Amino acid sequence: ERVTLLAGGVGGARLAHGLDLALRPSFDEPTPGTNPAGPRHPESGQAASSRHPLTVVVNVGDDTELHGLWVSPDIDTVLYTLAGLNDEERGWGLRGESYATLEQMARLGEDTWFTLGDRDLATHIVRTARLRSGTPLSEVTAQVARSLGVRPTIVPVTDDPLATMVDTPSGRLGFQEYFVGHQHADEVLALHFEGAEVARPAPGVIDALRDAELVLLAPSNPFLSIDPVLVVPGVREALTGTAARRIAVSPIVGGAAIKGPAAQILESLGHEVSALGVARLYTGLVDLMCIDERDVHLADPIADLGFEVMVTDTIMGSPQGRERLARELLGNPA
Ligand code: GDP
Ligand code: CA
Repeated sequence: ERVTLLAGGVGGARLAHGLDLALRPSFDEPTPGTNPAGPRHPESGQAASSRHPLTVVVNVGDDTELHGLWVSPDIDTVLYTLAGLNDEERGWGLRGESYATLEQMARLGEDTWFTLGDRDLATHIVRTARLRSGTPLSEVTAQVARSLGVRPTIVPVTDDPLATMVDTPSGRLGFQEYFVGHQHADEVLALHFEGAEVARPAPGVIDALRDAELVLLAPSNPFLSIDPVLVVPGVREALTGTAARRIAVSPIVGGAAIKGPAAQILESLGHEVSALGVARLYTGLVDLMCIDERDVHLADPIADLGFEVMVTDTIMGSPQGRERLARELLGNPA
């Protein structure tokens, strides 16, 4: 089964991890009659017959340049989580990280408001060097994934510049200025995705939506993670036009976000802060809304909007919880 996940950072990475675990056994089984030394897939370099069934299409609206380095936070969260290297507690960056470089940079007078660990910096240095030599972000991402032993296909939604800008009562802020600098405390009046109109989907993105049997919208922030994926011309059309079954998992559980500003943004943009409010945003985009068992009372109102509804435990704390949810979404419960 081919599965495509649209994802931001933490919510996307957790579900990607669950799907990777759930799909692993079928992927590990050699297909009878295939030659492991046979034809290789043109994009992934993997044997065509053993291309991983999961493609994760990742938001790049959070990307930014810091100290001359290109930082792609959502891509890195997905990569590090799938590689088993992420810092679970903090939710971003690498586990067991050190900060000697950043400390020295502060000493040299750099503004170090954005925390960058020593090993994390290696990713940004390598990415930036390869981008400067002309390699597109999608190819750099595939290379880093391969080096870290990540097997699903991880692809930025676009190789072109796309920057989320946040309008607040104190003016327009760049995404990281809003999110990290101001710790997403400002009221969000509107969001803009600079460059979106002329951005082109990265190679494989449209095919991944068209050819999948299942397309999932991760429980990622609908405004900051899912919207900037859908605004790339062709992506929303591929999602509405695909023959795949389409499922969204609500990032809002019990009227609150697990983390981050999704609840505040729903509220400030005039939406109901609940899985029902999320479902209204996704009308026409997915067939089924997966909501948490705490929100079982919203199943009927969501069904009234025309969705199928799945009610289950959607909290993906442990790897087991992630895999269990993934299996349920795949229609393949353990
Ligand atoms: P970010 O880019 O790191 O901010 O992450 P995302 O946009 O991918 O995800 C943020 C959203 O994920 C928040 O709204 C959280 O409520 C949601 N989220 C995080 N972990 C979970 C989880 O285990 N279950 C569900 N249902 N939502 C989650
Ligand atoms: Ca993000």
